[in-house]
Amino acid sequence: MILKKVVIAGTIRADNGLPMGIKMLMEDRSAIDAVEETIKMVEDNTDDWTVGSGGLPNLLGEVELDASIMDGRTLKAGAVAGIKGYKNPISVARKIMEETPHVLLVGEGAEQFAQVMGCEKADLLTENTRDLHRDFLEGKGIIEKSYDTEETMKTKERYFKSFQRMVKDSNLMEWYDRYVHSNHGTVNILAKDSNGDICCGVSTSGLSFKFPGRAGDSPIIGAGNYADNRYGAAACVGVGELVMRLALARIAVYELSKGATAEEAAINAIKSMVDLAPDKGSVSILVMDKEGNVVAACNWKDYYYWLATSENPTPEKKDCIFVDLELLEKDGVGYHR
Ligand code: ASP
Repeated sequence: MILKKVVIAGTIRADNGLPMGIKMLMEDRSAIDAVEETIKMVEDNTDDWTVGSGGLPNLLGEVELDASIMDGRTLKAGAVAGIKGYKNPISVARKIMEETPHVLLVGEGAEQFAQVMGCEKADLLTENTRDLHRDFLEGKGIIEKSYDTEETMKTKERYFKSFQRMVKDSNLMEWYDRYVHSNHGTVNILAKDSNGDICCGVSTSGLSFKFPGRAGDSPIIGAGNYADNRYGAAACVGVGELVMRLALARIAVYELSKGATAEEAAINAIKSMVDLAPDKGSVSILVMDKEGNVVAACNWKDYYYWLATSENPTPEKKDCIFVDLELLEKDGVGYHR
């Protein structure tokens, strides 16, 4: 019998995992189990091209994944960045949290750890993402300039040459603005279990066609993910560089610790992005307070998240609060003013 309210919330493509997540919580499973299993379902969904299998490839056509998990009861955390060839980076992150004294493992080291732990391997590229990368190199779709041909894509060395040419020929900042920032996404899952424990998990393939080795906010504790039973939890979606520069999830949880409501904490976190102007990009934050109240805020319109509770176990679509940073800038608010 459930004694306390349990809650699970997730970002837009989490709807396939949330029914199982809320069921687990209602069966008294831990928030950590519910977060991991829910994120695994999103990672395994190849129709979601921003997370796990079928995730967006980097510049070299490889799917490099970032993920993190934080236990609000102990403040322990685990994260992986730039891991390739493993099906469920969230499970690798959990093993780092539970089996090692570390918080973050990257690249090859993370892969070696995953292998030792017996984590499942997978080819993460799908037909779709292979095509996307081919189109990218051939100048179709989102890129106008051709850098390579089908023939030159046959070996990794050739990918690398293509990469070198691209870097040489481009104004990198402009290139980033045009191509890399246009396709991306992340899954955030926040859960509170029947013990009152809170957990937050995040998983992503990061920005499309990112530079190999680029890590975003998702594996950075305090930036894309933070959880503390005493106050609540927060996680982010959007341009990771902006989120990292502000340690946005930590800002929201700090706000909660100072007595802000989930709504105030989410809005204030997004408002703090005005300090980075003129650097801009889309960001959303999903916040849960220690009572399990959930709110999301973002700096663009028409975004939503999913919420399931023991009272309403069918995931319900909820609107994000839109914070208009342009208005704040017009008012002269911001650090660089
Ligand atoms: N935050 C992710 C990253 O920067 C991408 C996203 O959420 O859209 O890697």
